[in-house]
Amino acid sequence: LPVIRAQSSPDYVPDAKFYKVEAILRPWRIPKVASALLKMGIRGVTVSDVRGFGAQGGLTERHAGSEFSEDKFVTKVKMEIVVSKDQVESVIDKIIREGRTGEIGDGKIFLVPVTDVIRVRTGERGEKAERMMGGRADMINF
Ligand code: ATP
Ligand code: GLN
Repeated sequence: LPVIRAQSSPDYVPDAKFYKVEAILRPWRIPKVASALLKMGIRGVTVSDVRGFGAQGGLTERHAGSEFSEDKFVTKVKMEIVVSKDQVESVIDKIIREGRTGEIGDGKIFLVPVTDVIRVRTGERGEKAERMMGGRADMINF
């Protein structure tokens, strides 16, 4: 499979210190994606089982004029990863690399600006709350 990269690194609008990378992916690709993220020091990840409807149409069979019915939704996994701005592109590239099969239904990534991060245990906010024990920030010794 040829290597695909996210096309160019944009000036994110609106600008934020943190972004949520929200990826809808094939469930069976999640272990690959998760271990690759872990290797790059991403420790904070939330995963949910979801069902969705995309270009894949939810099925192989098509009925003209049929309504959206529940049985058309395909099982996917939603991964949500909040990272500092400078980590966004490498996380996106990793997800594409490990999540892609090249077939319809590989999923989609949404990038959402995050205004603050608050650690419930300590009340810390911002960078202090976003940094994870054993995370990349730890590895490169901020
Ligand atoms: P503490 O040091 O108090 O344990 P923590 O920052 O390690 O705080 P947890 O309380 O362990 O955070 O996190 C609880 C849940 O929050 C995790 O299981 C995960 O689902 C989610 N989570 C934490 N950080 C992130 C992140 N950066 N992105 C996405 N989800 C996160
Ligand atoms: N940026 C954090 C760190 O380097 C990691 C963020 C995350 O794991 N989602 O510690």
